Amino acid sequence: MPSTLTERYLSIRQSIPAHVTLVVVSKFQPIESIQAIYDAGQGVFGENRVQELMEKQPKLPADIQWHCIGTLQTNKVKYIAPFVSLIHSVDSQKLLLEIDKQAKKNNRIIDCLLEMFIAKEESKHGLSFEEAEAILTAPALSNMRIKGFMGMATNTDDKEHVRNEFRNLATFYKKHQAQYNLQYLSMGMSGDYQIAIEEGSNMVRIGSSIFGERK
Ligand SMILES: *Cc1c(COP(=O)(O)O)cnc(C)c1O
Repeated sequence: MPSTLTERYLSIRQSIPAHVTLVVVSKFQPIESIQAIYDAGQGVFGENRVQELMEKQPKLPADIQWHCIGTLQTNKVKYIAPFVSLIHSVDSQKLLLEIDKQAKKNNRIIDCLLEMFIAKEESKHGLSFEEAEAILTAPALSNMRIKGFMGMATNTDDKEHVRNEFRNLATFYKKHQAQYNLQYLSMGMSGDYQIAIEEGSNMVRIGSSIFGERK
């Protein structure tokens, strides 16, 4: 295992094919660590709390692409709408409408992913395939674009189970990709990103393999 933060980042980076976007998940990490990884060439970071996104964004280089990957409350969209580059966690029609409204206010178009429920775990959440299809077939909004899906697999050592969950979402993605001009399938974290990529993920969200376990 490489020893420094930068070495761990570069070694993960190397293990990911060029067509896959690496989102470095920097939640709970200090500004200096994020800056070090930015200096090593990383431009895309993910946070799961609005508060942290708001605090970190102004303190770090302006060309960082910030992704919101965690549960997003409707009343907090306004805080990230001026700068967020991709929201992975759209799980309701209400949230989608609010993102469109706040994007309009900021004169922007905000790209989003629908968060899909693929795991057999109560703690995970997201949309069913039916709910996602209802959103996709609804008239497009002017200031928010649906660019794909995000899914989290069950937290289990059963690799075949994880693989199956990723495969189901990948099949759903491929079914709708051309018609809705989808671009991103966000699947895979530190523990399962290799399986996710094998199953067709083109965006992985990795935190602890780079920064170490969160305390
Ligand atoms: C924390 C988090 C990750 C990163 O998880 P690691 O296991 O630390 O790589 C990925 N996606 C979401 C939605 C997260 O909240």
